[in-house]
Amino acid sequence: MKTPISWIIDDPAPVISVYYEHAGKSTTEDGRPLIPTYPNEMLFTFCDIIEKYGIRGKFSVIPMPGNKGDIVNGLEGIPEAEMKEWLDCIKTRVIPAFSAGPEMLTHHKAVDLATGEALPMNERDWASTQDRTTFVPYISKALSLLREAGIPTLGVTSPWDFGIEVEGEYEYSISSAVEEVTGSKNAWFFLRGLRRPGAKPWVAYDDEGRTLVSIPATTRDYLWATIDTPRTDDGLISEIADKLITADGKSGDVIDMLETGGYPILISHWQSLMSNGLGTGLKIMEEVARRIKLHLSDRVEWMSFEQIMELVVSDKASYPKPVF
Ligand SMILES: [Zn+2]
Repeated sequence: MKTPISWIIDDPAPVISVYYEHAGKSTTEDGRPLIPTYPNEMLFTFCDIIEKYGIRGKFSVIPMPGNKGDIVNGLEGIPEAEMKEWLDCIKTRVIPAFSAGPEMLTHHKAVDLATGEALPMNERDWASTQDRTTFVPYISKALSLLREAGIPTLGVTSPWDFGIEVEGEYEYSISSAVEEVTGSKNAWFFLRGLRRPGAKPWVAYDDEGRTLVSIPATTRDYLWATIDTPRTDDGLISEIADKLITADGKSGDVIDMLETGGYPILISHWQSLMSNGLGTGLKIMEEVARRIKLHLSDRVEWMSFEQIMELVVSDKASYPKPVF
């Protein structure tokens, strides 16, 4: 069997940049204004790249991005046609190569489910003191909004490190909410990075007939640097791609992970691909995928998170929970 390889895309939402909403600053590190939205053309370019190289992975869809409405009833300041065009593209070109899932409700302020209003704290801080009685309805709401928008999902991504202080309650709640909303006994989630030799996904919860698979990032988001530089030249693209896989295919995080028996699970954020409107990160993604295809086609196989989940569920004993 070839080694699974996968690419995590955190933080996408229709048109709205959640990074602009939650960054807590108005400019890039080099002083350019942060842009509040990304044109759909940049999503189409992303789709061209994943289709060309057969990239698979995980793609977040934030259902109430930045507390500005929701993907079913409409988003503040975004024409309905543009939101619909974005969502239709996810349904037709991103899925099923990428497993879609909410990254909780807003990736910004926590939401009072009874009123829909924002609470005076972000979702990470809110989550740190919750238990299953409040997590299950919150996660169910996020999954249900994707479902209502026509996007199937069997898993969730944690905004920031949402739930890490109460991980057991959080894990139970994800598994329970996914069954409640979709009927599936199996679910996946992404919370942790695991950047050590031989890193693989693991069975996080396995009880009451339900299984939850934790799929970690095993590399770093080096593309993040493209947000804070106006450079878009080939030298920069190659230099950042090298950190994942060099042009000769001999080193980089992807190679290190493969050499130690781990699964290369790459990570980017929507804002690190969009690069504040310059799209430099998209070019790096394409270069990395080209190098992987050129050098590793006989060793790795692109997989979506649902495929990795199925793989783990079919052989649970081989995927024990690591000691953190
Ligand atoms: Zn995120």
